Amino acid sequence: RPLLNVEHLRKVYESSTGTVEAIGDISFSMTSGELVCIVGPSGCGKTTLLKCIAGLLRPTSGAIALDGRAVTGPPPSMALVFQEYGRSLYPWLTVRGNVELPLKHKKLSASERTRLVDDALAAVGLDHATASYPWQLSGGMQQRVAIARAVAYQPEVLIMDEPFAAVDAQTRADLEDLVRALHRERGMSILFVTHDIDESVYLGERVVVLSKSPTWVQEDLAIDLAPE
Ligand code: ADP
Ligand code: ADP
Repeated sequence: RPLLNVEHLRKVYESSTGTVEAIGDISFSMTSGELVCIVGPSGCGKTTLLKCIAGLLRPTSGAIALDGRAVTGPPPSMALVFQEYGRSLYPWLTVRGNVELPLKHKKLSASERTRLVDDALAAVGLDHATASYPWQLSGGMQQRVAIARAVAYQPEVLIMDEPFAAVDAQTRADLEDLVRALHRERGMSILFVTHDIDESVYLGERVVVLSKSPTWVQEDLAIDLAPE
């Protein structure tokens, strides 16, 4: 059975100025260990789709299931990385403190937590900066902290919403390679959302293309990744 299953999802926003159909009819699924990209231009409903999957927004109709269970609120087995890295990190906690925080909600011994945090910080190349505070780091490094936090948490699925849209080209290329490595070496299941078609093709094993004009279109592309 699929890890994540989205069926005939539709979301209409109602406001005083009228209604907006943010998502028409989207269906896709991903299996455990896959890296799937969702790509589409600004305004096509990517953020709305992710908020529904993350249990932060109730769809107008359709169904979402994670590991066979209907998503009705934020699933504890999901981790999220957003574009706004600065706002997702706690400024009064060190890098280590930020990565460790979500683990405190899991029943783990202190030594097990330390092992997971050390392992995640090494995986993202931050083992030298564990005692720094987020504001002492560049945007790219802050995004590595956010990724380390997700790695240490060991989610069933990692959701990334335009995570590298705000960093410079070189930093972005390095971070994309980091995502590929986490997927290949650790088998992480990753749903990666971007408006950049090149990025989606570089990263995704499968790409779900969303576009709004002239009508709702959804296309699934299977991409054969060349071995490294
Ligand atoms: P994307 O992330 O692809 O840019 P969004 O999901 O943010 O797309 O938006 C899809 C559509 O829904 C857009 O037309 C946007 O203006 C509209 N929209 C998004 N959020 C709201 C909201 N809270 N209320 C009304 N309309 C919204
Ligand atoms: P990037 O180098 O990835 O583009 P930024 O543009 O976010 O990263 O940051 C550029 C520089 O500004 C970084 O080297 C960092 O030291 C500094 N900086 C960023 N955010 C802050 C902050 N909140 N407080 C102090 N310095 C910051």
